[in-house]
Amino acid sequence: MLSYRHAFHAGNHADVLKHAVLCMVLDYFKQKDKPFCVVDTHAGAGAYALDKGFAKQNAEFESGIAKLYNASDLPESLKSYVELIKNLNENKALKLYPGSPLIAQHFLRRDDKLRLFELHPNDCKLLLENFAGEGKQTKIERLDGFAGLKSCLPPAAKRGAVLIDPSYELKEDYAHVANAIKASLARFATGTYIVWYPLLQRPEPLQMVEKLRGLNAKDWLNVSLTVQAPSDEAFGMFGSGLYIINPPWTLPKILEETMPYLTKALAQDDSAEFTLESQIS
Ligand code: SAM
Repeated sequence: MLSYRHAFHAGNHADVLKHAVLCMVLDYFKQKDKPFCVVDTHAGAGAYALDKGFAKQNAEFESGIAKLYNASDLPESLKSYVELIKNLNENKALKLYPGSPLIAQHFLRRDDKLRLFELHPNDCKLLLENFAGEGKQTKIERLDGFAGLKSCLPPAAKRGAVLIDPSYELKEDYAHVANAIKASLARFATGTYIVWYPLLQRPEPLQMVEKLRGLNAKDWLNVSLTVQAPSDEAFGMFGSGLYIINPPWTLPKILEETMPYLTKALAQDDSAEFTLESQIS
């Protein structure tokens, strides 16, 4: 039984890194006049209220998106992400936060497609409600996203971005991600794959990153953001990262310029730092 609910974490530092980079990737996809498909294997509920319910309990967004929402010195590279959230909130106080499905939807043009998978019955119901009346461009399925991904690849448009964003509630998810990427590259070698991972005091996330690296994709990027020192109790997430296969060639430079700002804005103590490595052929 799945117990993870993303609403508790909506808009936190990990969402900011993941969603800001998703915007950068989809901004790049939109520059070409050819249709693309976005697949979100672990979609969540799609949108979250920040002023009530789960998100308000720990108010993780206060040390996440709230640090950027009213900033007057945002770098150019973060503007499309923050503006999207401002539009959702009608330029008023921050009360609503978009999940990856709503963010991806924002970038779609008439012929682009969005495929969403979410296994939790309650979150899938909310996701369907959040997309009610949106038509056939977006398809939502209550299915295992790893299995669902197979059915989406290669996309008819031959251009696509895949976000794999599990909660890693099940330890096997680390192996599932690495296997899914391997199988997906065999079906659709030129796709852009964005894998989110937590920074924890346990070996599995970085072992997974090593497995992804071992797939020997020609083009990749690995970015991570530590927001605080790991706790003495060896418990809890102290940052997060994204391993991206076939990133836009422009992304390394954009992140070189963005990460110092993000690190400073999201720092929870003096240990905050980022890492950025890439290989673009
Ligand atoms: N991608 C979302 C975003 O950025 O807004 C957040 C997703 S959250 C980290 C992970 C989601 O995956 C949870 O809603 C959980 O219920 C769902 N989930 C867990 N295992 C799954 C599976 N095998 N297939 C599809 N969804 C799954």
